Amino acid sequence: MKRQCFRPQKGVIMNKEFLYDLLSTGSVSGNETAVEKKIYDYMQDKADCVAVDELGNVTAAVNTASSFRVLLAGHADEIGLMVTAVGGDGTLMVTNIGGIYTTTYPGHKVRIYTNKGVIYGAVANARSIAKNNELKASDLRIDIGAKDKEDALKYVELGDTVTFDTDVRELLNDCITGRALDDRIGAYIVMEALAKAKEKGASVGCYAVATTGEETTGNGAYFTSSRVKPNVAIAVDVTYTSDNCGISEALTGDIAVGKGPVICNNPSIHKKLNRILRDCAEKLQMEIQTEAANGHTGTDGDTMHRTGAGVPFALVSIPLRYMHNPDEVGSLKDIQDCIDLLAEFMCALTEDTDLRPF
Ligand SMILES: [Zn+2]
Repeated sequence: MKRQCFRPQKGVIMNKEFLYDLLSTGSVSGNETAVEKKIYDYMQDKADCVAVDELGNVTAAVNTASSFRVLLAGHADEIGLMVTAVGGDGTLMVTNIGGIYTTTYPGHKVRIYTNKGVIYGAVANARSIAKNNELKASDLRIDIGAKDKEDALKYVELGDTVTFDTDVRELLNDCITGRALDDRIGAYIVMEALAKAKEKGASVGCYAVATTGEETTGNGAYFTSSRVKPNVAIAVDVTYTSDNCGISEALTGDIAVGKGPVICNNPSIHKKLNRILRDCAEKLQMEIQTEAANGHTGTDGDTMHRTGAGVPFALVSIPLRYMHNPDEVGSLKDIQDCIDLLAEFMCALTEDTDLRPF
């Protein structure tokens, strides 16, 4: 296959082929192995070591002898559905895995990830379903063409996961659209940032993990952070924008796709880490955006923060339109900027970095 490359102004070549491969692979929360395996293979020649744990979390690392450790986490899992029962007519009944928009499913093709490989289905729709504003996941029925329950169960097991039958497409102005850019782009970013930090000569221990389970249990971030025992952590995830659909900037901040990585201010995010991130962006002459939020971030950052003796963390987000829909929209430029910013950040840390506020 011809290698496709996106060339942003700074001359760094993003591996779009690998990014699009990740975005075309199913990874419903709890069933992330296919994506994790691709990341494991990809990172073999880009890190000092690459490890997989019992959950399937893949962690790549450089400078593991250093006593100061920074952990970057992007989650590999995506939202979707899980088969809970098969009707007498052979249609599949499902529950939600993570925060789905139930009304986006009727009338769409889906993939069911079975032990025998992917099989396809159509989500039943009718005017009565389309008009049901209270539609629940348990109201959905997936038609796989089976003659009856017995026929369906030759192919499908209860617990099999389901995603939309969609991959990634390029839009204008370096934008891409696809299913679950949240947060396979984050998993991609942390790995490329680690590789770049190694190239640039980062001195501290740098760890990048593609976590499992963020959309449901947070188990991947918990396992990894508990074991790496980082001095600082960065969650890399997507965030809402105010540049579409009338989403209020009072809720999201004034955030737009294509305008750079988003730094978050909230009560638990570490202000000195944000300062270092801002200094790095300034050094790179990179445009960044700021969001402010109360309480928890709703990301792996919250989980890592509460492991061990406590871990200071920051959140770097990629602006994303239509989050948790089959056609999320993000920007390749923002992805590349996040990689550059995080690589610079890792290089800015030293064994003497002191995060005490006074
Ligand atoms: Zn996410």
